[in-house]
Amino acid sequence: MNIVLQHIAPFVTCKHQPLINFRDSLTIDPFIPPRRKDKVVIVMGATGTGKSRLSIDLAKQFSAEVVNSDKMQIYEGLDIVTNKVTDKETCGIPHHLLSIIDPNEVFTATDFCQRASKAVDSIISKGQLPIIAGGSNSYIKALVNDDIEFKSRYECCFLWIDVNLKILQRFVSERVDKMVKEGLVDEAREFFNPDGDYTSGIRRAIGVPEMHQYFINENNKMINEDTRDKMLQIAIENIKVNTCKLACCQRQNILRLESQLEWKINRLDATEAFEKKDGEAHQAWNRIVYERSTQIVRHFRGEELLNIPPPPPPSSSTSFLHKVATMTH
Ligand code: ATP
Repeated sequence: MNIVLQHIAPFVTCKHQPLINFRDSLTIDPFIPPRRKDKVVIVMGATGTGKSRLSIDLAKQFSAEVVNSDKMQIYEGLDIVTNKVTDKETCGIPHHLLSIIDPNEVFTATDFCQRASKAVDSIISKGQLPIIAGGSNSYIKALVNDDIEFKSRYECCFLWIDVNLKILQRFVSERVDKMVKEGLVDEAREFFNPDGDYTSGIRRAIGVPEMHQYFINENNKMINEDTRDKMLQIAIENIKVNTCKLACCQRQNILRLESQLEWKINRLDATEAFEKKDGEAHQAWNRIVYERSTQIVRHFRGEELLNIPPPPPPSSSTSFLHKVATMTH
């Protein structure tokens, strides 16, 4: 009997003893499990890849709310130029940090971290899943990597919609033409600055500084209509070039985050969906982007273990590219 007690004694004692005891002042009970981190989904991708569309589709399936992480869409105004989702496109999914800052105000990455943390907190307190979506990778890095509080409280699942750059650049150039038809010029004129300073607030958005030369000469009677038209065409061309450059930089930034910070980013190659048209494009998108990301998010949330059936794909749309064109930046 004694021998048995001797053998089990260390285990019995262990159960009632703290693992660490720093001179009786700090005790850590080994049987209190660490607090489980709340889950956050992050949708990344260059301008035009379909981040808004994916986040809304996922939000419908997972009862989620979207937090914008595009540094220009945070400002009020320039809805066409910055490609904000319309009320109709949100399908009733609440969107946070969209059009909340005065266009002339300075808004920093630190401001973003404070606002985004608050939004994520409130979404979680409602029992919903937060989806952070947008192209500003410096904001995502500041929040997920540099904000110690956020890092300690949340676990992130990264989804990256990637599209072959050549194909994406053709797509975003065509999108600029659509934006012009929808009223880009009038919208940009509201932020024309005769002093030529486009270094702060929403004036930095691609689509505003490029129009400067045209706006300066717009009412100049010495300039004939032909020359004015040419100036407008040059401005539109510059918007296209700068949007293509932005897409390239954003893609490189994601690759850098992946390699330097060793983030496990789930890359979804949506190129096929951009090469096809209408129904076929929609099917490809559902298969490569939507269904795969649904599986990834279900796995991330541990739903597969609970045997929750997967959701059906969203219903087909007549014009896939139109939908992406109007819902992304
Ligand atoms: P960086 O550190 O280079 O600013 P970032 O990832 O934080 O990178 P981006 O979102 O890539 O920021 O924005 C870079 C620049 O691209 C902005 O300052 C702005 O000029 C332009 N830009 C970004 N988003 C938009 C948008 N939605 N509409 C128009 N222009 C944009």
